[in-house]
Amino acid sequence: MAKHIFVTGGVVSGLGKGLTASALGALLRARGIRVTMQKLDPYLNVDPGTMNPFEHGEVYVTADGGETDLDLGHYERFIDADLTKDSNATAGSIYSAVIAAERRGEYLGKTVQVIPHVTDEIKRRIERVVHDDVDVVITEVGGTVGDIEILPFLEAVRQYRLDVGRENCFFLHVTLVPFIGPSAEQKTKPTQHSVTELRGRGIQPDAIVCRSEAPLSDDLKRKISNLCDVPVSGVVNAADASSIYLIPLVLHEEGLDDVVCAQLGLVGTEPDLSPWRTIVGRISAPRAATRIAVVGKYVSLPDAYLSVVEALNHASFELGARIDLDWVQAEDIEGMLAAARLEAYDGIVIPGGFGNRGIEGKIAAAGYAREHRLPCLGLCLGMQVMTIEYGRSVLGLEHANSSEVDPSTPHPVIDLMETQRGVTDLGGTMRLGSYIAELVPGSKVAAAYGATVVKERHRHRFEFNPRYRSRFDDGAFVCSGVSPDGRLVEFIELRDHPFWVGTQAHPEFLSRPNRPAPLFREFLRAAMARAATRPAAEDVVDLTGEVRTLAGSDL
Ligand code: GLN
Repeated sequence: MAKHIFVTGGVVSGLGKGLTASALGALLRARGIRVTMQKLDPYLNVDPGTMNPFEHGEVYVTADGGETDLDLGHYERFIDADLTKDSNATAGSIYSAVIAAERRGEYLGKTVQVIPHVTDEIKRRIERVVHDDVDVVITEVGGTVGDIEILPFLEAVRQYRLDVGRENCFFLHVTLVPFIGPSAEQKTKPTQHSVTELRGRGIQPDAIVCRSEAPLSDDLKRKISNLCDVPVSGVVNAADASSIYLIPLVLHEEGLDDVVCAQLGLVGTEPDLSPWRTIVGRISAPRAATRIAVVGKYVSLPDAYLSVVEALNHASFELGARIDLDWVQAEDIEGMLAAARLEAYDGIVIPGGFGNRGIEGKIAAAGYAREHRLPCLGLCLGMQVMTIEYGRSVLGLEHANSSEVDPSTPHPVIDLMETQRGVTDLGGTMRLGSYIAELVPGSKVAAAYGATVVKERHRHRFEFNPRYRSRFDDGAFVCSGVSPDGRLVEFIELRDHPFWVGTQAHPEFLSRPNRPAPLFREFLRAAMARAATRPAAEDVVDLTGEVRTLAGSDL
């Protein structure tokens, strides 16, 4: 029978509850325990697919085409397993299932209520991820204890413990222990309040992960233990870490996996943490600086490109690079400005996106990279703008565009897929999930993957227009990967360029800390080669005032 770990968060949002849950998953996996993960989100959107990346960050796509919360990306990266749509249930999807059942008359005339109907549906969603090959299900309850929306979820998991037995459930609460500057003290009161609130819902935590700026003293841990009625071994400190990939080792040092295994009666092997130690060793080793720009539209919220950044990080761990990442607002580099903004970089990434804004800037960036032999990786919309740029500048297709951006373009080199015409419902109408592509032997992409048949995840409505295919096959531009039926162009590249490669897919979703996505790895390798030829650091133009950086005020 599967054991369950429920992860809740208190005090404030943004504490890294998803990362804590993921790191715990990684530690259990390291003991040979079979783990799956799930997120329950209390918002009313049916899925995050229609949510603005500015508000909610990236939409993560699972292999089966689920448009999910970005925490699922952390889960997959940390437990190195493919999850499914079922691993993300929102209040919106739960309520729609209940209301649809009511309309079908399934409640036999009863009054339909939050308890028991919504809570039963939440419990059914938890059950959906319980399979024979799963030893432990880690369920993260989104939101913060004390929110109105979270109540049905807390009630459901409380009941769930009664249903499956106390010995089969573990409640982990993640809180904040703030440091108050003037009194130079770390404060436990918010943690106490949040545990009291949780208890008010009938849930006594078995362990508390205390997030803090600086490490907590043993005295403070004892105080929290005493006041929150949690054994001192269950008071775990996760002080701010310099990299998210340190968290599994931090939690292990603090004994969290031991406490969980002891209480749930999980017998695994001795944890093999060597893969995590290798990653941490690589992160802390001195690395060659490589300047990368991400030219995007949602750059003021880097979470919008979370998996892209992680994929770059994974590549940097393997290749020994230190990425100095800048965010370049695509709108700001339209026209002649592209050169001024991009010349100091060793490589640019043009990520995915929707809508018109910033498109011309991205096209300019793709053109600058093409002409100046600057390594360039285009992801989904990125590949589309590279295609438009080549069409306009090299093939002379004046005003070529994507029909998403300019429906009356004379040259829709990127056009709506036939299957998508006339579709008006915005939810789940895209080409979503894993698709196979066949790569051209000898191409840059085939060399990067070391294979000629690959699978990547997709999320888009528009495609390379097959009517233009023959014009693009000019010997220099190569459609280096296509769908098995040959109709859809999945990868493009320039033959005579260090690295100017685009893909209609999102390879960032398959990147893992110890197994970088091949295209990101080869992109970074090309960027590092360029970095090695540039003048010493002091001669490089200082761009900090010009572009938005990770440390900038935008955050
Ligand atoms: N907006 C483009 C399309 O729908 C690209 C989508 C993306 O980059 N994910 O095809």
